[in-house]
This record gives sequence, structure tokens and C-alpha cells, in this order.
Amino acid sequence: VEELRVTSSPVIELADVSFGYTASPVVRDVSLRIDSGEYVAIVGPNGSGKSTLMKLMLGLLRPDDGTVRLFGEPAHGFDDGARIGYVAQHASAAKEMPITVREVVRMGRFPHVGFGRLSRADHVIVDRALETVGMSTFADRRVTQLSGGQRQRAFIARALASEADLLVLDEPTVGVDAESVEAFYRLLESLNAEGITVLLIEHDLGAVTDHAARVVCLNREVYFDGPTAEFVESDALARAFGTAAAFAGIER
Ligand code: ADP
Repeated sequence: VEELRVTSSPVIELADVSFGYTASPVVRDVSLRIDSGEYVAIVGPNGSGKSTLMKLMLGLLRPDDGTVRLFGEPAHGFDDGARIGYVAQHASAAKEMPITVREVVRMGRFPHVGFGRLSRADHVIVDRALETVGMSTFADRRVTQLSGGQRQRAFIARALASEADLLVLDEPTVGVDAESVEAFYRLLESLNAEGITVLLIEHDLGAVTDHAARVVCLNREVYFDGPTAEFVESDALARAFGTAAAFAGIER
């Protein structure tokens, strides 16, 4: 019985999920399961419901039909935010924040200490997170002074400090220069290799086919869900995007 526990457990489970902001559904009858340790990319054209699906997965929206479970609990009302590290596009909020990288990363400890002070052990965890993402030397720099790639690393470090076991990234490399993008995906890969579940919402199909093991191709409904190598060979992308031009960006 103990051995069975070693096998992957579901992190996110959607069963027959539909949702619409208005009468017409934006997410239609989606069922999928993401297990711990997976690296999954969700792709689809603009307006295909990727962000909406992500909000449903995180319990930020409630489905009209179907059920969503997060770490085995109903997603709506899930309250262990420390388990989820969310990295937004541009990490845009950071542009306004007059705080340092270290302060951002310390925020990752707040769910663990409440309003109490960080302990010596908390500071060690913060330092380790900064080191893992290669941001130790920028720790005292204000996030407003960082490049796009550095800013995204700071937010990943915050997730590591909170000991998140699920990283959700919404087009994280938009506005990040090409050289930093490669290093950024290598970082995600190494975190995934250490057991962190990675869920990537991505329009850059090259990045998806190079890095994610599994692709979910979405356009309101699921057009494809399976290994990336099969996705590249399938016509799912053309069907979901409705045009062969969608293949731009995939190197075959
Ligand atoms: P994607 O992330 O793939 O670009 P979204 O999930 O953001 O797609 O959007 C899917 C559809 O839902 C789009 O047609 C969009 O205009 C619509 N939509 C998104 N957010 C809202 C909202 N808050 N209110 C009404 N419609 C929305």
C-alpha cells in the first residue's frame, strides 16, 4: 500500500467543466487531470479560453457545470495558497512595486508565518530560493530596476520560498529577451526535475515543443491532450487555430 503512494497523485482534476461569462461558453466540457511532477503546456489561439481555464483550475472562477479539484479538494474555497506559485505575464504588478527582490521573495514565507516575524530558518529558505533562480546578486535591487527575465526569476523565487509544489505560469516570457528565455526554460526544467509540477500557458509554440512533456491544445474545448511529440505530428493545432499558419514557430 505504501508503494502505491509513490505513484503520482492528481494536482488538478477537471470533470466535464463548462463556463461562460455570458450565455455562450468560453470553456466547453473540458475534462483533464494533471498529476504531480508533470510539465504541461496549455496552448491555443488568442481568446481560446486559456486564462479562463487557468482561473477555473485555481478556483478563482466557479464552473457553470462540472467539477474542479485542486490537490484533491474542491478548487473553489481552496485556501492553501502557499502550495501554488503563480507567475503572471510580465509579472506586471511588480513594475509598480517599490520593493526589492529579497522583499518579494520573503513574501513567499508570509503564508507560513502569518504576521509574525521571519525566523532564521525562513531567511535561509529565502536565500536558497534566490540562489536557485540565480538572483542572489540582485537580492537588494528594486524589482522596478530588473530586466523582464530577472523579474520573472524573482517571482519564481517567491514561489520556491513559499514551498509551492505547483507552478502556474501565464505566458511568462513575453517581453523577455531571447537569451534569457532559454535560461528561463532551463530553470523551469530543473525545478520540474526536482518534482515541482509545472503548468505553462504559452503562445510560443517553439518553447512548448522544446520543453513541455505534455500539451493540451485548447479552443474553448480540448482539441488535443497528450505527449508533445504526438502533438507536433497531429493536425490538432491547425484545427484549433483554423489555419496552417498556426504552425509557424514549430521547428520540425
Ligand atoms: P485566452 O487566455 O486564450 O486569450 P481568455 O480566457 O482570456 O482567452 O478569453 C476567452 C474569451 O472570454 C474571450 O472571448 C474573452 O473576450 C472572454 N472573456 C475573458 N474574460 C472575460 C470577462 N471577465 N468578461 C467577459 N468576457 C471575458
